[in-house]
Amino acid sequence: MSHWIEGKVAGKRQWTERLFSLQVAAPALTFVAGQFARLALPAPPGSKEPMLGRPYSFVNPPQLAPHEFYFNVLPEGPLSPRLAALEPGAPVWLLERANGFFSMPEVPSAAVLWCLATGTGIGPFLSILRTADPWEKFERVVLVHAVRYAQDLSYGEVIADIGAAHAGRFAFAPFVSRETDRSVLSGRIPDAIRDGRLEAWTGLPLTADNAHAMLCGNPDMVRDTQAVLELRGMKRHRRREPGNYTLETYW
Ligand SMILES: Cc1cc2nc3c(=O)[nH]c(=O)nc-3n(C[C@H](O)[C@H](O)[C@H](O)COP(=O)(O)OP(=O)(O)OC[C@H]3O[C@@H](n4cnc5c(N)ncnc54)[C@H](O)[C@@H]3O)c2cc1C
Repeated sequence: MSHWIEGKVAGKRQWTERLFSLQVAAPALTFVAGQFARLALPAPPGSKEPMLGRPYSFVNPPQLAPHEFYFNVLPEGPLSPRLAALEPGAPVWLLERANGFFSMPEVPSAAVLWCLATGTGIGPFLSILRTADPWEKFERVVLVHAVRYAQDLSYGEVIADIGAAHAGRFAFAPFVSRETDRSVLSGRIPDAIRDGRLEAWTGLPLTADNAHAMLCGNPDMVRDTQAVLELRGMKRHRRREPGNYTLETYW
């Protein structure tokens, strides 16, 4: 049976109409950067299960409390609108154990770590990049964040702090698909890998010899990027069969 622990909403930030971050105080819950929690609220009357839960990646690094989760509201979704409506002080439940293998201990070292995210899929990277592990395992780190509109490029301050803490070793590549803005890349991640724009923007190679890529977020991006990486001779990393990329899909 699932064992839930009760946490408390410690803070909330609304970035846009649909994008929210929720801070949750739940000191008993420990995790490795890149893992996800299961957040839950009491299920509607008549449900089979007493709690309605969904997975959400930790955005905070393990050494920083409270926990933080970044999510978008799916208006027809059963849980995300209810999470967005919570106010500080409200109870929210978490599965007692964190889960997932999208983390540094599971990833082999290489010269460059490419963190490729769409939308709220940037969350686990903001946790991972605020730990020492990636900076010990990789010489350079690229964070790629693809969104539809520039206003969806959240967490600018956290990204700037990561850049300042690792000057000369970190590059940020923002993508916007539905607006034209010369200060960011346009279009989609897989296309910009295929045509070389992403490597030109960062000045870093994305090859089987030099890189490990971590892909997180929208399943279409993950699938299409995977196909482009395979064309470059990169293979999915597995514990028993080391490879060049790791992935986490959100739906
Ligand atoms: C391992 C894992 C980690 C996750 N971490 C996060 C996270 O950190 N932040 C986050 O926003 N979501 C995350 N998700 C998705 C999240 O668990 C929920 O599915 C989402 O918040 C919607 O919940 P819901 O109950 O409102 O609707 P659901 O019934 O869960 O989803 C309704 C439909 O919305 C679509 N959908 C689901 N998630 C998203 C999304 N993030 N963006 C756009 N469309 C979506 C799918 O088509 C889905 O069938 C994660 C999923 C997995 C598997």
